[in-house]
Parts: sequence; structure tokens; C-alpha cells
Amino acid sequence: MKKISKVMLITPPYHAGVVESAGVWLNVGFVYIAGSLRAGGYDPVYYDAMSHWHKLETIGKRIEAEKPDVVATTAFTAGIVEALKVLKLSKEINPEIITVIGNVHPTFCYEELFRDHADTIDYIVRGEGEETLVDLLDTLNSGGDISAVKSIVYLDNGKLVVTPSRGYIKDLDALPLAWDLVDWPIYTYRTMENSRLAIVSSSRGCSQQCSFCSQQLFWQRNWRGRSPENFVGELEYLRDTYGVNVVMISDETPTLERERWEKILDLLIERKVGTKILMETRVDDILRDEDIMWKYQKALIDHIYVGVEATTQEALDIFKKDIKVEQSKKALDLINKHNIVSETSFVLGMPDDTIEKIRNTVELAKFYNPDLAFFLAIAPWPYSEIYPLLKPYVEVFDYSKYNLVEPVVKPTAMTLDEVRNELGLASKNFYMDKLRNLEKLSPEKQEFMIKVTKIIANNSYLKEHMKGEMPEEMKKIMDRLAVRK
Ligand code: SF4
Repeated sequence: MKKISKVMLITPPYHAGVVESAGVWLNVGFVYIAGSLRAGGYDPVYYDAMSHWHKLETIGKRIEAEKPDVVATTAFTAGIVEALKVLKLSKEINPEIITVIGNVHPTFCYEELFRDHADTIDYIVRGEGEETLVDLLDTLNSGGDISAVKSIVYLDNGKLVVTPSRGYIKDLDALPLAWDLVDWPIYTYRTMENSRLAIVSSSRGCSQQCSFCSQQLFWQRNWRGRSPENFVGELEYLRDTYGVNVVMISDETPTLERERWEKILDLLIERKVGTKILMETRVDDILRDEDIMWKYQKALIDHIYVGVEATTQEALDIFKKDIKVEQSKKALDLINKHNIVSETSFVLGMPDDTIEKIRNTVELAKFYNPDLAFFLAIAPWPYSEIYPLLKPYVEVFDYSKYNLVEPVVKPTAMTLDEVRNELGLASKNFYMDKLRNLEKLSPEKQEFMIKVTKIIANNSYLKEHMKGEMPEEMKKIMDRLAVRK
């Protein structure tokens, strides 16, 4: 067998119009995998077909030009359909190409994937890919025993082989990153002029157990953090080497260990890193950090997403969110008080939802007063804890629709069209209210909200919903504010 050398890491060209409306986001997971592959003696190519908005035809041409030995891709549930197309295309171009897929969906749905796509997939990598992919390729190159490679799934003479789990990488600081393979100019944050945006990981995992979430299952409630020096040093490196001036922390809960997180904030302040930071965390960590919220602000934490998810205690309990309704309001108030952009989402379209309940949630969302709110449709990931509860109500089985935008679960008292319509109305209603009350915000936030509202109305998945009376009224408000500036 030809020795494996070149590995193309290709992001699937999937677009739902949610996060990508705010910016162009790189795939930090592939930057890590590429780093480990290179350290292992391989020749990785990081090809972000998704962020380039390349279609399959272009992707095919690139595969033909690169002539890889391996094509690896990644998939959350909504992206699996496009990810499989990339692997199928690779096999069509050259049946000798070894195809590999990893991330959340393949980690859990490997039986279904090999049942329906055995000709397309050679190997599934379960869990973290850095060590597993290198081990797999080393073993293939040496002609060793594939069944000894941990955390993979493959077919052996038609029989599914699932090897034991490798466990988690202990020392995240030791992982090499291939930042030099990133096509930097395309990664920008739309609300900031002359921005260069990176996604950086400070920790992996989440110790919580929200029932709708795939992350806690993927990480098995295991959490590991990089050292503050290592993480902050990377922000400085990205700033000095590639001009990165805004960073999104990819972690689910970067703040989990207060001591580590506070040290990160202290280093960002002491060393005057100057990079704007976007992040998400948990409501209870914000409440815990009330006394150091000033450090968040001083360290240039610019934008915090907290998962409020629901406005009733009953729904929060179903989601196993482990927070109280009033805590969410307090956390958002704290973020706002420090002039940091606050963002949250509400998961709607549950089986017992009604038009009245959804409208009530929107009113409460206004009262909670985040700067940005997203009204999302519950997605029934087939491996999530909440799936058995949702399964009888699932009406759409096309995974590409499981993107939190398209309603796929039908409430007893609503049609899917009604859910779709209410989600659109919820956004219209919320952002109109924001614009009407814009003058209550700080000048920086006013400017941000004007930019963001334009982006939401013109570039996001809400574009369709925003048609009708609202754009006219919104336009008038924005014109009036623009004139005054
Ligand atoms: S929703 Fe967030 S806090 Fe809850 S389990 Fe998932 S990652 Fe953790």
C-alpha cells in the first residue's frame, strides 16, 4: 500500500445562516488536528470549504489538485449530509483515498452511518481526534493491527468494529496548533471594522448535563483547561503573527474553575493583550464572578453568551439546566451593567408549546433584556437525553434541518408552520423593541445594535422572517438614529 502522507481536512459546505451571519469562523478543531498530524510526520491541508462558501464542484477540483491520501471531515448532526457528500466525492475522484469522519454525530451515530454509507466512510474517529487520527494513520502505514487503535469504528469484512475509548487528552497545553495553515484574510467579525477573527480554545468539555445538549455527552461531563499562561500566550502570538484582534473562545465553559479564569483575566489585563474576546459561559458562573466582573470588562471581554434557554422553571427543569429563572435575569443584568454585549437564546417548539406560551416567552425575553436574543427550534439530536421525550413528535427526518432554525418537532397544539411563523415573529418583536429602546443603551452598544440589526435583517437566517411591515419601521428607526450620529 502507498505510504500515507497528505491528509486533507475539509469542512463540510453546510450553511444554516445562524452563527455565520455574525462573522466567518475558522474550525479550531482542524487547526489542532493539523498540528498533531504535522508533528506526527504527515502533510496536512486545512481546507475550510464551508467558510469559503465553496460548492461541491469547487471542492472536487481542489481534491483533484491536492491529490490527498486521506480526506477527513467533521460533522455535527445538521452538517452530516454535506459531510457525507464530501467523502463520497473523494471516493468518486479516487477510490484509493481513505475517508475519515469525526465529531459529535459520527461519535454517536456510527451504526447508522456504516449501515447507510459503508461505501463512503472508511473510518470514524470517536471523541477527540488529535491522537486517534495519527495513531490510525501510523498503524495503516506500518501494516499494524487496526483493531488496536482506540476510539475508532470501521467495517471488517462487513462486521462493525468499535474499538475501546482512548479517554481524553490530559495536557491540552502540549497540543501543537497549525495556525500557519489558516487562510487568515477570510476570517472577520462583521460588527467590527478591520477585524481579523480567530477561534481559540481555552478548555474542553462541560461538567453540566443539559438534556438537549450534545456537548456534555461528547465530553462525558469531563472538563480540562489549558494553563492561563499558555492560553494568553497564544492570543499574543496570534495578535503579533497574524494580526488577530478579535477572538471567540470556543469553550462551553471557560470559566468553570474560578482561579484559572481569574488568572486569565489578570494576565490579559497586565500584559495589555488588547484582543477583543467573545465567549459563552454559564449563568451561575457569571453570578459567582459578580465581584470580578470589572476584570472581564478591563480584559476586553466584549460579548458574553449565556444559555438561558427557557423562561419557566418547568422548562428549565426539563432541560436539566440547573439554574433558577431569576438567576438568568440577574446574570444578564450583570453583563449589561459592565457594558459587555449580552446574548442568550431561548429553545422553543417543545411538544407542549402553544402560540400563547411562545409569545409569553418573548415578553419575558424583553424583560430579561439581553442585547441579542435568539429564538431557536428544539433539535432532537438522536443521541441526546431529551430525545425519547421528543421522538413521538418528530415530523422531519432530514438531519440537515436539525439546525435550531427549522422546526422539526411538532407541538401537540401547533403546526410546524405555526412554530416557524412564531419564531420569526419572536425575533421581529424582540428586535423592534430593542430599537425602540436603543437610547437606553450606552453609545457603544447603540452603535453595535444598529450594525447587528442590519446584519440580522439582511444576512442571517432571519432575513425571510424580517420581510413585511417590520423592515420599514426598523429602517425608519435606524435612519433616524443614523442621522443623529
Ligand atoms: S448546554 Fe452548555 S452548560 Fe449545558 S451541557 Fe451543554 S455545554 Fe454544558
